[in-house]
Amino acid sequence: MSLLIEGGRVVRRLSPPLIEHADILVDGTRIAAIGTGLDEAAAQRIDASGCLVVPGNVNSHTHAYSALARGMPLGVAAPRSFLEILQRLWWRLDRALDEESIRASALVAARDALLAGTTTLVDHHASPNAIDGSLDIIAGAFTQVGIRSVLAYEVSDRDGADRARASLAENERFMRSSSWLHCPISRPMVGAHASFTLSDATLEACVGLAAQSGCGLHIHAGEDAIDSGAIRRLGQARALNSRLLAAHAIHVDSDEAHQLAERGVVVAHNARSNMNNGVGHAPIELLGDRVTLGTDGIGSDMWAEAMTAYFRQREGQPDAGMDWVVNALAHGATFVGRLFDEPQLGTISVGAPADLVVLDYSPPTLLDANDLYAHWVFGTSAAAVTDVVVSGEIVVRDRMLTRVDEADIDRFARRQARALWARVEDTPVHTFEPVTSRAPATAGLS
Ligand SMILES: [Zn+2]
Repeated sequence: MSLLIEGGRVVRRLSPPLIEHADILVDGTRIAAIGTGLDEAAAQRIDASGCLVVPGNVNSHTHAYSALARGMPLGVAAPRSFLEILQRLWWRLDRALDEESIRASALVAARDALLAGTTTLVDHHASPNAIDGSLDIIAGAFTQVGIRSVLAYEVSDRDGADRARASLAENERFMRSSSWLHCPISRPMVGAHASFTLSDATLEACVGLAAQSGCGLHIHAGEDAIDSGAIRRLGQARALNSRLLAAHAIHVDSDEAHQLAERGVVVAHNARSNMNNGVGHAPIELLGDRVTLGTDGIGSDMWAEAMTAYFRQREGQPDAGMDWVVNALAHGATFVGRLFDEPQLGTISVGAPADLVVLDYSPPTLLDANDLYAHWVFGTSAAAVTDVVVSGEIVVRDRMLTRVDEADIDRFARRQARALWARVEDTPVHTFEPVTSRAPATAGLS
């Protein structure tokens, strides 16, 4: 099966930007040719004249399981701290999830992502009362809608040792099962919640599985002051390496930030979530050149995320440029490309996996490589997405999903949301308090 995307202005890569007018020929799952006047009689066609064609966005940290929480009544007193947000909202919702609500959440998350031009979700899942097989359910739903993904189950001791063991086993089962081997657009990582809900033994087991499998570890680190010292502890557990995906990295001291940069750790920055939870501001300028952007479950509109990250940074640093948010999106694709052994992922190059987005965007000013950053932050948006291609297949055509009926997803999701909310109402506030065990601060480090 071949596909010809004709006549567009093509952003061949984001970092550094490279733009040209060209046709794109896709053969199977990959880009076969880029140039003017391309033709292929048998190809499907997308007319991109007057449009911008860009690499698909990557959401480097999200939680599809939160997709049905929109509008959910809390039913208890409003949280006053980050820990209470977990105890009163997310750690009640995750315990109320069952197989069907996990499936509905994943379908909604994938649908929203693709329609917003996000072609890869790096997901971090928790459902303590439906652990075994949960990653297969998500992989199945994501594949059904047609989105690329990296999946992990978040191991934690907050629901007891048995569930911690079962969670680790779910990561191991998923990475060894044939399901992902036969699913070319999904890859596993090892998930762990956060240092403050992990015993030394459980953290060691997660780090060990990540190292032994080569899949890498995906963990929240330093999201709130209660998780201070997380990077130092991960360092002592020998977990700081280029396969570590650390979400947030807000409450890190200068030595920890230096360690992240030095060891090539990938940091997922989640500006909107950080602001929503009032947890503080990540020291972006100290975290190295592997900062990526995630949404932490607040949809998957990476233009909105990039814009907010830019404004938030400018608020405290008026000379901050626009380039870093666009570079961060490119870094997310590079990271995912490493997991898929696809170094060209996130670029529109001959031989690259064909993950592309067509934007109905006619720039009212000049647009070349030097201007791309400004257009990205102040011009383009998810509302301009018309067509999306993942692994060579058109999964959004004229703003509609091609593989599934969106109305069916909505009906199923609303039914599941009603039942899920009722179960959450019956789920008590979580009583877990942070693990006090911390790696001792080394002399000379603040
Ligand atoms: Zn998160």
